Amino acid sequence: MRCGKPVRCEEQEYCYDCMQVRHRYDRGLSLWLHRKPVSTSIYQFKYHNQRVYGSFYAKEMAVAYGRIVKRWKPDLIMPVPLHKERRRKRGYNQAAVLGRELGRILGIPVDDTSLFRRIHTDPQKALGRQDRKKNLRRAFALKEDFRPVPAVLLVDDIYTTGNTIDAVSEVLKKKGVEKVYFLTISIGQGY
Ligand SMILES: [Zn+2]
Repeated sequence: MRCGKPVRCEEQEYCYDCMQVRHRYDRGLSLWLHRKPVSTSIYQFKYHNQRVYGSFYAKEMAVAYGRIVKRWKPDLIMPVPLHKERRRKRGYNQAAVLGRELGRILGIPVDDTSLFRRIHTDPQKALGRQDRKKNLRRAFALKEDFRPVPAVLLVDDIYTTGNTIDAVSEVLKKKGVEKVYFLTISIGQGY
């Protein structure tokens, strides 16, 4: 009912993770579980210049969740940004590729410039869960001229703990956005 992760039994409304954490976003959904062949496909999309996969994912998202997104009524689609150093190295932000395609199909404006990542969050693996969260909380920012809208749909490739989506949601809500939703290609297997 929150992150969209499949749960063991129908009576269970929230996954184990969502029962423990108060998420900052409102609702979200993912297309597939993060396992093969999905994980391989996303890897190619992210690291091996298979940008073309973006239109396939976006089409699948529109078919699976177009009606739900319409109900959410997002005013803007915002891809989760990469730090500019990383984007330069990779040549593109895979979330932006996906977000732009989705926006085109669903007819929703895409803003891929207002939100940015100000801290390189690479040494994440060396940090504990709490430090990682703290680090991420400061990682995102909005440009001064961003005008808040009632609802934003975030787009990213993978949802794991939700820390990233939460961090971005917090930034948006602080600026006056009321509802934040997300769509990702895959989601980690939970409980
Ligand atoms: Zn959950």
